[in-house]
Amino acid sequence: MAAISAVTNYRASSPPMNFIDTPSQELFASNVFNKAVMKKRLPKAIFKSVLKTIETGMKLDPAVADIVASAMKDWAISKGATHYAHVFFPLTGLTAEKHDSFLTPDGEGSALAEFSGSQLIQGEPDGSSFPSGGIRATFEARGYTIWDVTSPAYILENPNGTTLCIPTAFVSWTGEALDKKTPVLRSMQALNKQAQRILKLFGHTDGAMVSATAGPEQEYFLVDRNFFFARPDLINAGRTLFGAKPPKGQEFEDHYFGAIPERVLAFMLEVERELFKLGVPIKTRHNEVAPGQYEIAPIFEFANLATDHQQLTMITLRRVAEKYGMACLNHEKPFAGVNGSGKHVNWSMGSSSRGNLLDPGDTPHDNAQFLLLCAAVIRAVHKYQGLLRAVVASASNDHRLGANEAPPAIISIFLGDQLTHVFDQIKAGAANTSLPKGTLTVGVDVLPPLPKDTGDRNRTSPFAFTGNRFEFRAVGASQSIAGPLVALNTIVAESLDYCATRLEEATKGDTKKLNEALQKLLTQIINEHGAVIFNGNGYSEEWHAEAKTRGLLNLKTTTDALPYLQTDDVKALFEKYNVLSERELKSRYDIYVEQYCKSVNVEARLMVRMSRTMIFPAAVRYQNQLAATCVNLKLVGYTFDTNTLDKITELVKGLQDTTATLDKALSGHHFDDLLAEAKHFNETVLPAMAAVRKVADELEGYVADDIWPLPTYQEMLFIK
Ligand code: ADP
Ligand code: MG
Repeated sequence: MAAISAVTNYRASSPPMNFIDTPSQELFASNVFNKAVMKKRLPKAIFKSVLKTIETGMKLDPAVADIVASAMKDWAISKGATHYAHVFFPLTGLTAEKHDSFLTPDGEGSALAEFSGSQLIQGEPDGSSFPSGGIRATFEARGYTIWDVTSPAYILENPNGTTLCIPTAFVSWTGEALDKKTPVLRSMQALNKQAQRILKLFGHTDGAMVSATAGPEQEYFLVDRNFFFARPDLINAGRTLFGAKPPKGQEFEDHYFGAIPERVLAFMLEVERELFKLGVPIKTRHNEVAPGQYEIAPIFEFANLATDHQQLTMITLRRVAEKYGMACLNHEKPFAGVNGSGKHVNWSMGSSSRGNLLDPGDTPHDNAQFLLLCAAVIRAVHKYQGLLRAVVASASNDHRLGANEAPPAIISIFLGDQLTHVFDQIKAGAANTSLPKGTLTVGVDVLPPLPKDTGDRNRTSPFAFTGNRFEFRAVGASQSIAGPLVALNTIVAESLDYCATRLEEATKGDTKKLNEALQKLLTQIINEHGAVIFNGNGYSEEWHAEAKTRGLLNLKTTTDALPYLQTDDVKALFEKYNVLSERELKSRYDIYVEQYCKSVNVEARLMVRMSRTMIFPAAVRYQNQLAATCVNLKLVGYTFDTNTLDKITELVKGLQDTTATLDKALSGHHFDDLLAEAKHFNETVLPAMAAVRKVADELEGYVADDIWPLPTYQEMLFIK
C-alpha cells in the first residue's frame, strides 16, 4: 500500500532538460576522444599513425603512445577529469574499471598530473577475483589491461567529478584472453582476412578493411523502485521467483508501440542524451509487447565498438532509471507468463570502399557476390548451429528460448520468400553447365528486389535475413553481445575461407571461370546446408517435428548447449583462426558452466528463504484469521463455509512439503564434474523450484491482499 502511494505520488526531482539551448547534435560525442579531437590535438604525423592503426588494424607504434597519452590527459583534464580508468570486460559479461589518479607526488611536497604512454597502453588491475577458468591460479594473479586503439576513450561524468575511461583488452601474463573483448578483435581480423580473398576473386583489390558490423536492439523492463525493493527476488536474481499471472496480461497488445508514459519518456530522453555524449548513436525507442517493456536501439557500428557501446547502454539504462525512481530489468524473463526480453543482434560486414557487403546489388556482378556471401552465412549457421546455441546459453535465457514467444532453441534461418525463391532456383541447377530451365544464372541474372527492413515480419526465427543484414534474435537481454559476435565472425570467416579456396582452385586466376565455378559452389552449398532455412512459424509443434527430420539440433537448455563449446569441430575452428586457443576455450566453457550452477543455486536458496520467511508466514496468518472467524461464528450459532480454509490448509501443507524438497535438492550432493552438477540443477533443482512456485502462486489467489507480502504482477506491471 505504502509502495503504491509512493509510486502514484511520484514527482520528478531533476530539473527538466533543455534541448533548445543544447541541441543533441552538439552533444553528440562531446565526451569522446575521437578522430576529430585527435586531429585537433595531435601532431599530424602522430595522428596519421594512430589512424592507420584504427583503420587497418596495424600494430601501434610505441613511440606514438606517449604523445597520444599526453594529449588525452590534457583533453580529459580540460573536461574536469581527475582520474583515468582502464575499462575491461571480464567473462562475467559485466564491465569492470580500475581507477587511478592522474596525480603523482613530485617528491617536493606537491603533485603533478601525469599520464604516460605506458600508463595508457597497459595497466595491471588486481583482477584475481575475476573468473579465469583455470588459466590463472591466484598466486600468479597478474592480468593486464591493454589499450584497444579501435575503441575511443571517453569521459564518464559524475556529479563529483569526471573520469577518463580507456577501453582495454584484459589478458593474462602469458597473453591469454581473460575477457570478452580480445576474441572479438581477433575474430574481426579473421573475418577481414577471409573476406579479402572473396573480394579479390570479384576483382576488388583496394584492400580496405572488411569489418563486421553490429546493431543490437535492447529490450528491457522498467519497474518502480518502491516495488523493486520490496522484492528480494528482483534485487538478487533479477527476476520474480514468485507471482501469479495478473487477470489482464498482454493479450490486448495495447502496450505494443502505444504511447510512452511521461515518466518513461523523460527517462528515455535522459538515457539518450547521456549516451549521445558518449558517442553512442542511439536511434530508436519504443514500447515493446509486454506491459512495462521497452526497447532501445542504436545505429550499427563496427562490431567491437558496438560491443563496448552496448555495455555502456546497459549501464546507462540502469543508472538513469534509478534517477527516475525506477529499476531497469534486463533479465531475459523477469515475469513468468509475460513476454521476455531479448537482444536482437543485427550483423553484417562491410568496408569503406564496398559498403555493406550483405546489400544485394544492382548489377548481376554484385548480386553474384551477395549470393555467395549469403550462402557462406547459411553454410556457417548450419554447420555450427550447436555453437550458435551455446553462445546464447545461460540460466536466465533458458526461461526465454523455446518458450512460446522467443525464438525456439532450434537454430534456423529465415530468408524471406524472395531470397528463398532465388536459392531454390540455384538449387535446381545441378552441378553441370547446361542449366535446366528456371535456373537462375549467377552473374548474369538480376535478383528480384528484396524487401529491406522486413523487421518484425517473422518474429519467430532465431536468425533472420532482414534485407541487408542478418538478425540474431536468440541473444538474451542481459548478455554481452561479444560471445555471439565472436561466434558469427569466426564461423563466417571459416565459410568464406572454404568458399575462397574452392573458387581459387576452380578459376586459377582466370576471372572468366568465376561465374561457372560460383554456380556450382552455390548449388552445392544450398544442397548440403539448405536444411537450416525455415520461413514458417518457429513456435509451432510441427516445426519441432520437422526440424528433427531435417537433422537440426534442438538444444533446450544450457546444459545441453554448453558442451558444444568443447566439440572437436569448434575447438579446431577457434584454434585455426587464432580466435581462441584450446585452453582459452576450455576456460570459457568451465566459467559458463559454473555461472549456470551459481545462478540457479542463488535463485533456489532465495526461493527457500522467501517461501519460509515471507509466503508461509502470510499464509498461516490468513489461515489463522479464517480459523478464528470460523470458531467465533460457531460460538454465536452461525455456520461457516470452510472451503477457503480447507484450500489454504492444503496449500500451506503443499508449500512446506515442496520447500523441504527443494531445500533437500540443494544440499548433500557431490559431483566431481561441473557439468554433472549443472545437470543436477537443471534436472532436479529447477523442477523443485517450479513446484514451490506453483503452490505459492496459487496461494496468492486466496490470501488476503493486505497480508500478501510481495508486490503483485498487477502492481509492478500496471501501476506507473
Ligand atoms: P527492427 O525493429 O525492424 O529490427 P530497428 O531499427 O529497431 O529495426 O533495429 C535495426 C538495427 O539493425 C539497428 O540497430 C540498425 O542500425 C541495425 N542495422 C542496420 N543495418 C545494419 C548493418 N549493415 N549491419 C549491422 N546492423 C545493421
Ligand atoms: Mg529487429
